[in-house]
Amino acid sequence: MPHRLSVVVQTPAHSAIAGPLTYGHTAALPPGSLVRVPLGTRETLGVVWDGTPEESTFEIRPLSAALDGLPPLNAAWRGLVQFAALYYQRAVGEVALAALPPQLRELGAAQLTRRLKRPSGAVDANAADTTHSVALSEEQICAIAEFESQKGPFLLFGSTGSGKTEVYLQLVQSLLARDPTAQALVMVPEINLTPQLEARFRERFEPRFGAAAVVSMHSGMTAPQRLKSWLAAHGGTARIVLGTRMAVFASMPRLKLIVVDEEHDPSYKQQEGARYSARDLAVYRSQLETRLSTDTEPCRVLLGSATPSLESWHHSRPAAEGGRYVRLAMPSRIGAGTLPKVRLVDMGLQQKKTVFSPQLLAAIQQRIARGEQSMVFLNRRGYAPVLACGSCEWKSECPHCSAYRVFHKIDRSLRCHHCGYAEPVPRACPTCGNPDIAPVGRGTERLEEHLAELLAPLRRPDGGPVVVARIDADSTKAKGALEAQLAEVHTGAVDVLVGTQMIAKGHDFRRITLVAAIQPDGALFSSDFRAPERLFALLMQAGGRAGRDAAQSAASEMWVQTEHPQHPLFAALRQHDYPAFAASQLEERRIAGMPPFSFQALVRAEARTQEAAQAFLTLASAAACDVPDVDRVTLYPAVPMGVQRVANIERAQMLVESPSRQALQRFLLAWQAVLRATRSQPEAKGLIRWAIDVDPLGI
Ligand SMILES: [Zn+2]
Ligand SMILES: [Zn+2]
Repeated sequence: MPHRLSVVVQTPAHSAIAGPLTYGHTAALPPGSLVRVPLGTRETLGVVWDGTPEESTFEIRPLSAALDGLPPLNAAWRGLVQFAALYYQRAVGEVALAALPPQLRELGAAQLTRRLKRPSGAVDANAADTTHSVALSEEQICAIAEFESQKGPFLLFGSTGSGKTEVYLQLVQSLLARDPTAQALVMVPEINLTPQLEARFRERFEPRFGAAAVVSMHSGMTAPQRLKSWLAAHGGTARIVLGTRMAVFASMPRLKLIVVDEEHDPSYKQQEGARYSARDLAVYRSQLETRLSTDTEPCRVLLGSATPSLESWHHSRPAAEGGRYVRLAMPSRIGAGTLPKVRLVDMGLQQKKTVFSPQLLAAIQQRIARGEQSMVFLNRRGYAPVLACGSCEWKSECPHCSAYRVFHKIDRSLRCHHCGYAEPVPRACPTCGNPDIAPVGRGTERLEEHLAELLAPLRRPDGGPVVVARIDADSTKAKGALEAQLAEVHTGAVDVLVGTQMIAKGHDFRRITLVAAIQPDGALFSSDFRAPERLFALLMQAGGRAGRDAAQSAASEMWVQTEHPQHPLFAALRQHDYPAFAASQLEERRIAGMPPFSFQALVRAEARTQEAAQAFLTLASAAACDVPDVDRVTLYPAVPMGVQRVANIERAQMLVESPSRQALQRFLLAWQAVLRATRSQPEAKGLIRWAIDVDPLGI
């Protein structure tokens, strides 16, 4: 075997083999080549990596096979993986292999070659140019012109209904028209939002570029579908890839445009394994693609939102003040008139235990009488968050978690939303035998029931009974259920829609003229410093659902029931003034030294006991005194996590903070060895796993 190769493979987190392994082969293979290699007693998929293989005293094993039917993964893809692994403190092999479609691991070289030979929908290059000419608004034209004339990165700050999607379509269209091989990646936060986006892109681009030109990539697809999309993107036949956060790692050799829609959405952050932010990686990737490109066309990235993350907003301040992003503003709604009027109800003035204030109820009744729809949301699913005994202390605690099991009336079950443990509701209190156990608090199921009772005496204009429907994670579990329920709302058969924040996102309800938030106050005083930002985004997004038709927008209203109507967040909401809200939040964060004015990482530990989890973190913290840059980071004490025990595992965390991103990165990289060594200390016995979360979303 004259040639030695560096190969990355999937290795367990924090194992001793974090870097590439060395294998021998009869021929030299370029970096990025996909290979099958022996690992222990099994055979696994690997990627030939950059760099000279390390000298080894071990016997060098030969490759099992080279998947030479596939072109190698290019330098930009490898650079992205390498960066993500380093930045998010994971092994390169773990990130690389997780970024490839799972089926690629199972197929041999011969099977793969057959897969590649399958025709993937011929493209008729001579097809008539059916490119749409859409009438664009002045703001859209300006945004597009500015985009085309600069390098970015760009933040498209466009209010709900301002036509952001049309801007994305136009940018993709002009790119594909001027560059016959260029590819574009368009990301959305949730799988639910991909079908409607895919429909719009197909309608626009299929006639010109063929059915194979648009592919989707998300975790809801089957393994063969994912492989097919991946091969189309990797081979260049797919010109447009639409997907969720995982798509940021799509192999696209001619990538020239990345769009991240609803860039503020927390779903862009991966919550296990390598906890990457797909939005942040998208920005990094565009720079990398431009730097490594062989032509002059840069790879541009556009982040879009009506309520940008405070990080992106801060990055898009004027360049003179240090901003790095170009802000493109589209404040007007197209064909949808004005934004809905915001009405705050002071719940402190209502009778105790009021769920629907009389004002709100009257407003909903008016809508029903006019044949219009209302949407009511509450961010808690189930019937009631707790079931409690009236005569003893019993509550529906989960035996495996430090949390209550939620009462679901529909199947009379108690379900833990953390570990999934479910049981039928007991006939009587398990502790004292009292048959009188009752729900405490309310979730969407109970809200739906209560509202249906309140509205029962009413009739619709057609004389029929009032219809209240609910959409949340429980009502949409079955495949296709969400689509069916949404269709029902669109036909007008539903008068009031009750649901969780799921209904506030993305869906276009044209007949809804009233949106109400029932109990949003929790987020105002949350220990999570990002909670107000998320609440504001959610309320703005929900408000944007109302009155999408110009004719109705004048009568559209957004109702908020709150104990704190004086809160500045609501004052900004009333004016639909995101910049004012962002300015006040950023000022608070600046004073408190919070992101984006500092950089954070969390180390999480899971163990059989809380003592062991905390001991591990405390020891690792104490042993950090010699680690480089320790003087530039703050290590906070180990604390139990918000939900301390899940599925009988105790969880603790430690916050690490620094005013410098580089210092934090250097520290974490060197501290990993300390964490690995601490694991074998006797005090940490019982530790199950630990992980670092860089730029965590929830603290
Ligand atoms: Zn009892
Ligand atoms: Zn549980």
